[in-house]
Amino acid sequence: MNINAPPKRIGIMGGTFDPLHYGHLVAAEMARHEFALEKVIFIPTGNPPHKVGRRVTSPGDRYEMVKRAVQDNSFFEVSDLEIQRKGYSYTVDTLKELHELYPQHELYFITGADAFREIFTWREVQSVLSLSHFIGASRPGFDPHEFLEELKRDYPEFLPHMHLFDVPALAISSTDIRSRVKEGKPIRYLLPESVRLYIEETGLYRI
Ligand code: ATP
Ligand code: MG
Repeated sequence: MNINAPPKRIGIMGGTFDPLHYGHLVAAEMARHEFALEKVIFIPTGNPPHKVGRRVTSPGDRYEMVKRAVQDNSFFEVSDLEIQRKGYSYTVDTLKELHELYPQHELYFITGADAFREIFTWREVQSVLSLSHFIGASRPGFDPHEFLEELKRDYPEFLPHMHLFDVPALAISSTDIRSRVKEGKPIRYLLPESVRLYIEETGLYRI
């Protein structure tokens, strides 16, 4: 083993994925290349604390949609780590578990610009920021620069862990896809065909 080799990097793409769409896949693929990530693990949330009050599709269905979507990219995989956990899912617990699974790797948590701005509201933010790097991919309608100013002021020691980068803009969201299905509008080309067919077969989002 070459002790001078830079540590390997694992990408983590967390999300509700209700359903998964091309915005998620583009952010993950561009981050993989830009930050030389060995692979990207998609981790669907089990019981997301920030989505209380809205009906979230069963973890089994969301996991299956992610599994289908990542099948044709050998750098992508899906993990049921959060789905298996009891109670609410907190990123801090996931990062600790991943460190145990990959003790030699650096973790890079990929978010869209909207989620990047919310990191301060996460549980045990100090630990979260010390356990992982964060990559904020641009997302239409969200400007993360104000957040960076706050970070410079309040947590300057974590700045080297925070990375913003531009991806081709895709104004796609799961919320919009769910309402389109409900209203009988097309969703083709917004998400992989395998996911669209799963939604059609199972009747998800129709009511
Ligand atoms: P919802 O509308 O239900 O919130 P969403 O489209 O935001 O769904 P999430 O599962 O909430 O999807 O997002 C998972 C991660 O992917 C978040 O970090 C989010 O910022 C990022 N993301 C989602 N869509 C895009 C997009 N179009 N471009 C860049 N990042 C995205
Ligand atoms: Mg979202």
